[in-house]
Amino acid sequence: MGDFIIYNTLSRKKELFKPINPGHVGMYVCGPTVYGEAHLGHSRPAITFDLLFRYLKYLGYKVRYVRNITDVGHLVNDADEGDDKVEGKAKVEELEPMEIVQRYTNSYRRNMLQLNVLPPSIEPSASGHIIEQIETVQQMINSGFAYEVNNSVYFDVEKYASIHSYGILSGRKIEDLYSNTRDLDSQGEKKSGLDFAVWKNATPDHIMRWPSPWGYGFPGWHTECTAMSTKYLGEPFDIHGGGLDLLFPHHEAEIAQGVACFGHSPVNYWVHNNLITINGQKMGKSLGNFINLDQLFAGTHQLLEKAYSPMCIRFFILQAHYRSPLDFSNEALQAAEKGLERLFKAVTMIDGLKISDQSTIDVPGVIEKCDNAMNDDLNSPILIAHLFDGVKMINSVNDGKSTINSIDQAMLKKLYNDYVFDILGLQPDISGAGTENSKVFGQVVDLLLNLRIVAKKNKDWSTSDKIRNSLADLGFIVKDTKDGFEWELKG
Ligand code: ZN
Repeated sequence: MGDFIIYNTLSRKKELFKPINPGHVGMYVCGPTVYGEAHLGHSRPAITFDLLFRYLKYLGYKVRYVRNITDVGHLVNDADEGDDKVEGKAKVEELEPMEIVQRYTNSYRRNMLQLNVLPPSIEPSASGHIIEQIETVQQMINSGFAYEVNNSVYFDVEKYASIHSYGILSGRKIEDLYSNTRDLDSQGEKKSGLDFAVWKNATPDHIMRWPSPWGYGFPGWHTECTAMSTKYLGEPFDIHGGGLDLLFPHHEAEIAQGVACFGHSPVNYWVHNNLITINGQKMGKSLGNFINLDQLFAGTHQLLEKAYSPMCIRFFILQAHYRSPLDFSNEALQAAEKGLERLFKAVTMIDGLKISDQSTIDVPGVIEKCDNAMNDDLNSPILIAHLFDGVKMINSVNDGKSTINSIDQAMLKKLYNDYVFDILGLQPDISGAGTENSKVFGQVVDLLLNLRIVAKKNKDWSTSDKIRNSLADLGFIVKDTKDGFEWELKG
């Protein structure tokens, strides 16, 4: 089993990854709240933890990857006020909340498939785990860290902070939190403005409510992740992931709830991806820069100069380290598009490289650098830079400036198969190579061009010209060479 190093938000340093059960990894990632189309902001955590999931599997671990669907309890406002996001949308659209949930769960999954994000091992929804959440709330009451008031249950942050460290993950200080919440004057029935709801009382006009020991209500947003992560992964479990925007209060609350329920911290490694900005600005509905993934793939948002393929978006995201901020712009995406094209073109050339007795290029050196990059906190931009060093080598062998032997050729092929297709999860379009469809596609074009050579030998110029002109009409550029032909499809 390969060793690798990962940055742990909790310890604030890079650590050698050691799973609780050798050979097995339990990983939980906070999934979407399904009340609208998936947007650019959803793509980064999905792709970051897909990279980690794929890499752990590549290293030989058996991974149980749980990514939840939040379909109840996520309120518009973090201070336990305002509408439930799903219910609010259902009112606007005059639909059942579960129709909203189904519609946007379906579109989220479709977008994830387009981005070649592997489905998680388990995808539990909050509304499907009400009993488990009631149990979690009961455990917090039993341990004395939660209290009931007017049929709602709140987590007692002050009491927790007097014994444990509240703010251990986010680095926030309890004194600063106090001064911030006093200004907001959102205390209401809570003992303190810092307390958060783990169960909320709901009146009959609320559609999504369930019976509980505290009357009809619904679970608080933080409750679901504690209940569902530990149900499927035990406690403690190995890795908890999510976007940096979830660090506080969501993940901070999950640690406090875990300690309240189980007496110890629930997670060994906390991993957070940084966020995406658009032309230097934070994404936000009011700023008009909120781009849905469907708009991105179709080029239908006013900020877009053109459509960008899902693979272009995926490659663009992987070109930045997951802990670095990433700024989205048309220029950056178009550069990513060109880079990806160059990468795929080189990969298709590996099989056809002329084999020599000796290699004048250092293939094992490139492989070692690629492995080291990934083992150092999933450094995908450095990995990609080394893959491009390999692209230069491939081009140089192809141009006859360097040579490669058969062992190095096989190693190079395995390197690109492993890293480009399996780990980075990049899939070529039809014009590229690697998938079964595109392989067959390429063979059909080769077949036509071989028929054209036969036609030329037979001096059947009309057939030969017809094949060449028809291919040209379809966008193919065909070059005759002394060994036969070369072709390229200009998209
Ligand atoms: Zn969560």
